[in-house]
Amino acid sequence: MDIFGMMENSSHEQVIFCSNKEANLKCIIAVHDTTLGPALGGTRMFNYKNVDEALEDSLRLSRAMTYKSAIAGLNFGGGKAVIIGDSATQKTEMLFRTFGKFVDGLGGRYIAAEDVGTDVRDMEYVRMETKYVTGISKAIGGSGDPTPVTAYGVYVGMKACAHEKWGSDSLKGRKIAVQGAGQVARHLCEYLYNEGADIYITDVEEDKVKYILDIVKAESVKPEEIYEIDAAIFSPCALGSVINDKTIPRFKFEIIAGGANNQLENEMKHGRILMEKDILYAPDYVVNSGGLINVANELEGYRQDRAMKQAEGIYNIVKQVLKKSKQENIPTNVASDKIAEERLENISSIRNIYSGASSFSGRLGELTHR
Ligand code: NAD
Repeated sequence: MDIFGMMENSSHEQVIFCSNKEANLKCIIAVHDTTLGPALGGTRMFNYKNVDEALEDSLRLSRAMTYKSAIAGLNFGGGKAVIIGDSATQKTEMLFRTFGKFVDGLGGRYIAAEDVGTDVRDMEYVRMETKYVTGISKAIGGSGDPTPVTAYGVYVGMKACAHEKWGSDSLKGRKIAVQGAGQVARHLCEYLYNEGADIYITDVEEDKVKYILDIVKAESVKPEEIYEIDAAIFSPCALGSVINDKTIPRFKFEIIAGGANNQLENEMKHGRILMEKDILYAPDYVVNSGGLINVANELEGYRQDRAMKQAEGIYNIVKQVLKKSKQENIPTNVASDKIAEERLENISSIRNIYSGASSFSGRLGELTHR
């Protein structure tokens, strides 16, 4: 494995391998880019087949966090940690506290948060060993469940697309197909229902659909049927790669805006196909950045109203992305990448200006400003 070559290809600053036999810990912390601030990103626990797979995942995910933070206007860099192991059977207090020690050793270059395979309880163990962790429960001063804020960001992002497409951001009477009936979808459906949208919902677990149907009026459809519902908007809120060669020909949708990560199976190819078919795609990492906004807020003393207000800003960010896409005739996902890269470049040039003692604030232990 050519690790330095891989790091150079994706412009990674630092990759740390951590091991502790007693705690059965094998983990990789990838710090992609700290131009905007300390690298903030989730800690994933997954039964990777081998180290190569874990490394690739950590590099891919940490890079995505740099873009998400940059486009959301946050002053954080991109990072991600992956713990190799089965989250159903191998989680222990010792594992997460040992991981916390390694995170602490990085002195704030990486700030952990929950992710696939980890939860608030695990982060509380990490918190016992380091202050560089976020996403802990409200009971001990954290931000708790991020999903209401994530869903709100998806909702306002969807409205921005509606405004672009139809000249009004009202979703009243619009048919909306929601894939997944999990945490994000549940809150999203509440926003949509309150606005009078016609909701179609699906999940591989029927109980989850039932739970939502008890809260809002919606029509349940089978998982495979969701791709060909005659709806104006598709909202993927379950899993990645659902926009691909097989699904796109079935779409009658005019807009796609959902909470799931990595919705395009192939970023370049499928982003372009959507553009050619005049399907307006709201880049996933833009509209689902409410989750990151929520945990970022925790580091400044959490207030949900402030996090919601910030998530509301996703409306204007989506508008900006759509404008650039139109002006430059490029797919929306390419436009958002460009805006994120421009912000990184701009902020990096500001950092070159010496402004006295405050230039050294990072060395004095500030978490979010340098
Ligand atoms: P969740 O696990 O609560 O919900 C996902 C749901 O999708 C589950 O109910 C699952 O049964 C269902 N599902 C899985 N495969 C399916 C399929 N083939 N068809 C239909 N349904 C299927 O997760 P969540 O927290 O609601 O997150 C949803 C998505 O949004 C995930 O991709 C997640 O990575 C992403 N996301 C979440 C947040 C957050 O704040 N939770 C933030 C950013 C991004």
